[in-house]
Amino acid sequence: SVRNKLIAVLLFMVSLTSCSLANENQNTVFITGANRGIGLEYAKQYSAAGWEVIGTTRKPEEATELKATGATLIQLDVTSDEDIAAMKKALQGKKIDLLINNAGVYIRDSDRQSLEFSFSVNTAGPLLVAEALIPNLKKSEHPKIVNVSSRTAILTGAKGKSNAYAISKVGLNMVTRILHSRLSNNNFIVISLAPGRNQTDMGGKKASLTPAQSVPLIMQLMADLTKEKSGRFWYYDGTELPW
Ligand code: NDP
Repeated sequence: SVRNKLIAVLLFMVSLTSCSLANENQNTVFITGANRGIGLEYAKQYSAAGWEVIGTTRKPEEATELKATGATLIQLDVTSDEDIAAMKKALQGKKIDLLINNAGVYIRDSDRQSLEFSFSVNTAGPLLVAEALIPNLKKSEHPKIVNVSSRTAILTGAKGKSNAYAISKVGLNMVTRILHSRLSNNNFIVISLAPGRNQTDMGGKKASLTPAQSVPLIMQLMADLTKEKSGRFWYYDGTELPW
């Protein structure tokens, strides 16, 4: 009957509205270097927790495991200004709640090329990616930027050997402090995070943790972040680290 049809149309409209509300309320995480290692584990676990995941990779055609998480893939080499500009354009108007600047390289040598390349990936990359995504993060009620650093960046822990990785991660910690001071009045939380020694291509097989073990703890840490915790350096287990 006409009445039943009207009811069906009404029910359909109600379901559409609640669907779009659910999408608006869904949290979105943006992860760099999400195709392997700890980054892939964030993609898996945030996706399983019901988040919308945007994961970057340098080679989308090879990122089968990332694709399988249901993430939206973005091609991004963090040393490429063209890639960063294209990413910004593709995401115009999109809300992002959490940016995880996870992509990184480990180079222990300290010749000029190693130093400059480490700085480009580990320090300049996260800063320029964060700056490009500030308009997206501003759309969130509780925007967070997590810069993935390392305990090797702790200044008082310096050993005698020069180490491009450690030096570049110290620079990244300054990026955290600068973004914190610029954005904390806008409700942003910006931290540095040391994820612990993880079994990945970078961490090696002997590392004490698997990403499957560390990522739930890090997700808890990120969920528990408050304004007071911004601008500081946190270990995966929730303890605070000195600069
Ligand atoms: P992996 O080496 O396993 O993965 C590194 C990721 O970064 C890959 O997705 C890689 O992409 C990406 N990446 C590297 N260079 C670039 C670039 N120029 N542009 C974009 N993406 C890039 O590292 P982990 O998962 O172990 O480490 C993740 C983060 O955690 C890093 O920042 C690391 O410094 C930090 N960390 C890790 C520790 C550990 O024990 N594993 C300890 C302390 C800190 P691709 O596949 O294309 O190379």
